[in-house]
Amino acid sequence: MSLNDGVLYVPEMSADHRVRVFRRTLNDLHEFEGMEVDAYIIITERYVVIFDTLLCPEDSEIMMRMVKDQIIGRQLLVVNSHADWDHCWGNAYFTGYHATPIIAHNHCLTRMQSEEARQELIDYQQRYPVFHNVELIPPTITFNEGLTILGGDLTIELIPAPGHRTDHIAAWIPLLSLLLAFDAVEKPLPSIENADAVSSMFATLERFVAMQPKRVLCSHGKSTSSALVNKNLEYLREIERRSRAYLQQRHPANDELEHAAEIIHYPLDRVIGDSAEPFDRAYYSWAHNQNVRSLFQWLMSYQGEI
Ligand SMILES: [Zn+2]
Repeated sequence: MSLNDGVLYVPEMSADHRVRVFRRTLNDLHEFEGMEVDAYIIITERYVVIFDTLLCPEDSEIMMRMVKDQIIGRQLLVVNSHADWDHCWGNAYFTGYHATPIIAHNHCLTRMQSEEARQELIDYQQRYPVFHNVELIPPTITFNEGLTILGGDLTIELIPAPGHRTDHIAAWIPLLSLLLAFDAVEKPLPSIENADAVSSMFATLERFVAMQPKRVLCSHGKSTSSALVNKNLEYLREIERRSRAYLQQRHPANDELEHAAEIIHYPLDRVIGDSAEPFDRAYYSWAHNQNVRSLFQWLMSYQGEI
């Protein structure tokens, strides 16, 4: 498989022909081998809205080729769910001849203009040829509280959904009762940025539950099930319960937090249950441990202990 033919249209992920789901499988990327990330294109009467631009401009080009019949008579809009590399490094496709407004949370702009992002790109470009044509193209329209795209037949509400990252947003399409949760919901488990993000993550997931979506799409894990929101929330509450119980006995030292999942006796296999579906064990072990550690640090910080 060549570098750029890893983007596929996955029609079985969508119940409405206006919502198109595309999947990028990461090949030849060593530690990310086999990882998948989804992007969406929603075709409304007035707009074609591209939700996330995947890994590189070539990825976005492939998606756009697959919807080219829909573009005439409609304004293109790009939305970045957040500034992580697997979601917005294709933005450069939407410059120059293909110049398109790029909408994101205001903090996404800050992240993409940061020295950290510049260094990360240099680092990735040195390691993997797939990123050769990536440029950090920040959003051109930003919001803080929310933004509504009135597409005519479909209205799309962009809402802040922090927790995985501060700049993370979600998209809600009321008519279809469809929530695009991106990385706020994930199968088998979500990833919280750090201790400071724990309460935001709970609030985001609780807000999603209150919206009562019929379908929820997330960027990683091939899931369309709204039950996954509750499952993710229940998973985090279980960590919270176990961590609180542990803290009533004693406080973990920093080196114990390196294996935080172990000290609350909540190994990854218990989280996953008896699901036979394959998943990236190395990544999700790491993410699970980080989640437990963040929960511990959050609980200890508001108890005034650190
Ligand atoms: Zn992601």
